[in-house]
Amino acid sequence: MSNTTAEIISIGDEMTSGARLDTNTQWLSQRLGELGIEVPFHTTVGDTLQHNTDVFRIAAERADIVISTGGLGPTRDDLTREAIAEALSVPLEMHAESLEHIQNMFRRRGREMPERNNCQAMFPRGATPIHNPQGTAPGIDVMFDRSSGSRSRIFALPGVPAEMKTMFEQTVSPALLDRGDRRQHIAHHVMKFFGTGESDMEHRLGDMISRDRQPRVGITVSAATISLRIVATGDSPEICQSLIDQTREEILEKAGEFYFGDGETFEQHHAVIRHLNQASQRLLLVELGRAAPLGDWFAAVSDEPGFTADVPAFVGGISLADLTDLQQWVGLPDDASAESCLTALQQRLKADWVLLVEEYPSIHQTSEHPLPGGEVTFTVAAPDRTFPSQTLHLTAHPSILHARVAKAGLFWLRKCFPTL
Ligand code: ATP
Repeated sequence: MSNTTAEIISIGDEMTSGARLDTNTQWLSQRLGELGIEVPFHTTVGDTLQHNTDVFRIAAERADIVISTGGLGPTRDDLTREAIAEALSVPLEMHAESLEHIQNMFRRRGREMPERNNCQAMFPRGATPIHNPQGTAPGIDVMFDRSSGSRSRIFALPGVPAEMKTMFEQTVSPALLDRGDRRQHIAHHVMKFFGTGESDMEHRLGDMISRDRQPRVGITVSAATISLRIVATGDSPEICQSLIDQTREEILEKAGEFYFGDGETFEQHHAVIRHLNQASQRLLLVELGRAAPLGDWFAAVSDEPGFTADVPAFVGGISLADLTDLQQWVGLPDDASAESCLTALQQRLKADWVLLVEEYPSIHQTSEHPLPGGEVTFTVAAPDRTFPSQTLHLTAHPSILHARVAKAGLFWLRKCFPTL
């Protein structure tokens, strides 16, 4: 499979006009990369039949696999079916089972199927429909005979990201892994890290991130959080899982001090809440400056499955402009220390821990300082009446500066927890 190439076609005027960002192509490229399939071309095309036909022809001539998204709806500007039929020089034919699926979909929603939805059951001759469990538009799986005599395979999926992803995972990915003699399986695992940079992480991992390693380890960074994505392929789900477990152990040996959890959406604040729930302790946040992202993040966690506890671990967040406001708010004189303010709050609000962020820097950019930032002090009021504190000079692009500061605060808090 190493030399297999793919082209992704994103269809829709909303993409070419700039009204909507094409996220399907990004997602598909990542999944294909994990399968070891190179993606040398991305094409975006508007809703014009001739342009679509050309694009499918060109893509099928130069890539072994073509995956398109969009244009499978029932309206006149949904042209993917016709464009593929034209590119293949074959007629469109009605597929009875697909028509039944679409009719059932409408029946379950208690609606009459409009006449125009008939066209969604039309397929280029020789194509296999791809089942769409969530929507009306089935996908298309069809072979294309190239002028060279070889063949390429076209998969057309709907534009709706959730439907597209399900159909890729359920049908396209297994088809691409099918080597004829044996079925291959694929498994993914994401590990999350904070506290070091991407280059240090790459250095620590060494050969583990080489492209031909199995399982493959990919590194991505989002607002200073590093995600390592492990992708294993094997003859059974159990083999994939044991490969992932081994790789996970190796990674922990090399970079365990920065690891905080697993899963695409797992963040440091989830790790903090989990720790507090286990210890039956409560946290109060005090954020000074013109931002308070931590309050938002923690408040949102209480709604997430798996994070609710009898005693809420998150007391709440206080957002004030500066230390003077905090002293006044707590009712202490203006020479009172940050520590005494935190102690007063700790007692009044029955919090075991308090994290003070002092304070979020301005995100104002100047030509001399394209990366805004400054000194930020994190002070923790611990249950044993100590006040471990750390001052860092933090700079970042304005779009991520406050998140970067908030995450550094959580990293410090986690270091203060006894088990870390
Ligand atoms: P439908 O049956 O819903 O009409 P479709 O296959 O015709 O499906 P489109 O009509 O092209 O798909 O798009 C449906 C929705 O999916 C729209 O909200 C569109 O903006 C979104 N969408 C389409 N293509 C992409 C893409 N490449 N990235 C992100 N969103 C997309």
